[in-house]
Amino acid sequence: MKNTDYEKLYGRIFKILGELTPLRADCGQLCGGACCKGDAALGMRLFPHEETALSVIVSENGGRLAVCDGTCDRTQRPLSCRIFPFFPTVDEKGRVYIEPDHRAGRLYPLIPHSDEIAFDPRFFRALKKVGKLLSADPECREFLRQTTEEIDLYRALLPENTDNAE
Ligand code: SF4
Repeated sequence: MKNTDYEKLYGRIFKILGELTPLRADCGQLCGGACCKGDAALGMRLFPHEETALSVIVSENGGRLAVCDGTCDRTQRPLSCRIFPFFPTVDEKGRVYIEPDHRAGRLYPLIPHSDEIAFDPRFFRALKKVGKLLSADPECREFLRQTTEEIDLYRALLPENTDNAE
């Protein structure tokens, strides 16, 4: 796809998500804005060509990252920030699932309690739609696939999955 097509794709994606967040309440009040405490080395990873639709500072630090000082124009925040701490994972057939992003486990205090929290179902429906749109593009699908592998790796390292390991 051309850059202008990606710009349209992410424009559509941001519209689908709108102001939806995982919780109906302001989750930042619960965790003190844990997701916004990164630095130039710990930026939020950009999806393929996402920068075509945003005005963000991009750093090349083991991947393309959007960096910020912990504040932003919400209309310009990257997709990773909008969907944190969930991710549209894919299987080998490109089918999309919405799962906790275990890479955020230590950072995001709600992940270990995700079974007990009343999340907003509208957010998950919207994110599933977003995942399907991304999965329809080969480059984005490959990004979803690689990230799914990474998340699976982090999940395998969770204490409950390693306690009984030899
Ligand atoms: S871009 Fe905005 S939402 Fe994302 S980490 Fe920075 S301050 Fe937080």
